[in-house]
Amino acid sequence: MFKINENYQKLPGSYLFSTIAKKVSEYQEKNPDRRVIRLGIGDVTQPIAPAIIDAMHRAVDEMGNAETFRGYAPDLGYDFLRKAIADNDYRARGCEVSEDEIFVSDGAKSDSANIQEIFAESCRIAVCDPVYPVYVDSNVMAGRTGDYDAKTETWSRVIYMPTTAENHFVPEFPRETPDIIYLCLPNNPTGTTLTKSQLQEWVDYANRIGAVILYDAAYEAYISEDDVAHSIYECEGARTCAIEIRSFSKNAGFTGVRLGFTVVPKDLKCGDVSLNAMWARRHGTKFNGAPYIVQRAGEAVYTDAGKAQVKEQVAYYMKNAATIKTGLADAGYEVFGGVNAPYIWMRTPQGMTSWEFFDYLLENANVVGTPGSGFGPSGEGYFRLTAFGNYENTVEALERIKAL
Ligand SMILES: *Cc1c(COP(=O)(O)O)cnc(C)c1O
Repeated sequence: MFKINENYQKLPGSYLFSTIAKKVSEYQEKNPDRRVIRLGIGDVTQPIAPAIIDAMHRAVDEMGNAETFRGYAPDLGYDFLRKAIADNDYRARGCEVSEDEIFVSDGAKSDSANIQEIFAESCRIAVCDPVYPVYVDSNVMAGRTGDYDAKTETWSRVIYMPTTAENHFVPEFPRETPDIIYLCLPNNPTGTTLTKSQLQEWVDYANRIGAVILYDAAYEAYISEDDVAHSIYECEGARTCAIEIRSFSKNAGFTGVRLGFTVVPKDLKCGDVSLNAMWARRHGTKFNGAPYIVQRAGEAVYTDAGKAQVKEQVAYYMKNAATIKTGLADAGYEVFGGVNAPYIWMRTPQGMTSWEFFDYLLENANVVGTPGSGFGPSGEGYFRLTAFGNYENTVEALERIKAL
């Protein structure tokens, strides 16, 4: 008789987005005349830029012609895309990353969930709290996290690094020594980030203790301040301790198109075992390549027209972020983030819990956000609003909040 992977049974239900959806539809049923504005989702709303659409159309036509048809893509990605990535995301920023250190994939979620496979089950992971849930859950499935304590909402073998207003959202080096450190910068959900020199301290720390940093840079395109690193490889020594994960979802609207990549430097080794070789082996066995059409779309992101159009979209969302941030501040709320990321993180007023504020905002302003407690225990007392909506709705949502 077969047995299941019991680790899956340990996963607590993720009720966050289903609870939100349920509460919103119940409210809408009772109040059909009210127009609810959703600033809760982490999905983009602007259409794919024309330069990218043109590239996809051309690639579609190539697929219909015997001379230009392509079958399986190379496991690790087409050379044209890996070169565009290496040139634009790395060489242009003075980072030493070569084409054969770049692994093209179908997105950052799968890479950030899968990368833990190449590490021992005994490794201790450290995560910021609040956190993007994929990092912890993928390690739960792998049996790396120990037992769950429902009361504290924590796992016994996971090292939590609280990031709150009290420490200015800068995680401290943990008391216990981690083997794997997840950093997401700029951060989802807090919308905050670290300066390059603060990140350098993490790189130095990881090299000192022999840990690896899994660096999720999905929001790199939203960085507006000069002292923030766009890649962890801007930091000295990162090639011996860091894996960087990137996505085309948030910068170019590929959430439904699917494309991302992971950088594993050849200098990253465990004894004399190369993690680059391990990830190549893993990728080659379990992944058959991102679609040709999608990789041509990714290449177009790096053309002059693509760059200009994508920059405009990011600016559109960041205008929303500024609208939310200044609107909330004017209304007397304490707000964080929204400068280098499309997320605004706010403290709930008058000691309300995250869910109490969710209900209050839904019922009184007909605005939907995300309760901070859904991202981890240190998110309690906070609330996330996203800049991914359209501008008119964002302005109206803030007018409503200010009128409360
Ligand atoms: C949205 C997001 C991603 C992107 O995932 P894709 O699979 O590339 O769409 C990755 N990490 C974080 C923290 C995110 O918020």
